[in-house]
Amino acid sequence: MDIKLQKVSYAYSVGTPFEKFALFDVDMEIPSNTYHAIIGHTGSGKSTLLQHFNGLLKPTKGIVQVGNRTIEAGKKAKDLKPLRQKVGIVFQFPEHQLFEETVLKDIMFGPMNFGVPEEEAEKRARKGIRQVGLPEEVLAKSPFDLSGGQMRRVAIAGVLAMNPEVIVLDEPTAGLDPRGQKEIMELFYRLHKERGLTTILVTHSMEDAAKYADRISIMHEGRCVLTGTPREIFSDSETLKKYRLEVPRIVKFQKKIEEMIGKPLSKICLTEEE
Ligand code: ADP
Repeated sequence: MDIKLQKVSYAYSVGTPFEKFALFDVDMEIPSNTYHAIIGHTGSGKSTLLQHFNGLLKPTKGIVQVGNRTIEAGKKAKDLKPLRQKVGIVFQFPEHQLFEETVLKDIMFGPMNFGVPEEEAEKRARKGIRQVGLPEEVLAKSPFDLSGGQMRRVAIAGVLAMNPEVIVLDEPTAGLDPRGQKEIMELFYRLHKERGLTTILVTHSMEDAAKYADRISIMHEGRCVLTGTPREIFSDSETLKKYRLEVPRIVKFQKKIEEMIGKPLSKICLTEEE
């Protein structure tokens, strides 16, 4: 499912004294089966943007197209339920939304809520738990008896059980230790490759964006200021500096980027030395 945003603006609390535009004229194209990273500072509009991908927010101005579904400012959108199923969003700390008595019930909740028969929902739950690398025995446990990393995987299995075609990840590794972070990122990359899952990653991590994404968009003060391949983005040290996007001084990472762009990284886009 291709995603296309045309001149999308979004304001919170329209028509009240608190009206506030969080997106301005955003154009973005994310073709099927690609891995697209969205980077930018806190408050740059990333979370607001990602909620447009499945119709949770509707544009105040402009057009959002997801597959054959069009959501246009000022027009009544058709039933958005199918879109919510096709575009799964993994919000920050998704484990906070676990609530059922058992992991199995929790993973089945989403599909059953969307009318999937019980037997099929259970099949999807078993598949989902395997896909996130947890043993099936976990299904009988209470989600609250699991470790933080396991809970996150269960929450992800719940999104996968909806059989989405697009998955949107909002800082999916926040709060995990470095090993857990790597495992989760590798898991999504595998899903992207094996299932052809279109993947949209909202991240603070320049490292993850460079490592996994086909294309990267930079958000700044509600605008999409640049989109390009990792190579194009990291070659453009002036832009990185302008938007205060610094590359961490991790030798391995720096080397990898330098190999990718075929020249040393400009000092101006490296983090300050401690
Ligand atoms: P990011 O995800 O990049 O941190 P957000 O999309 O959360 O950015 O926020 C973009 C802007 O919209 C910020 O200025 C933020 O304060 C504002 N904003 C976010 N959510 C709301 C809301 N519910 N009501 C009003 N303003 C909001």
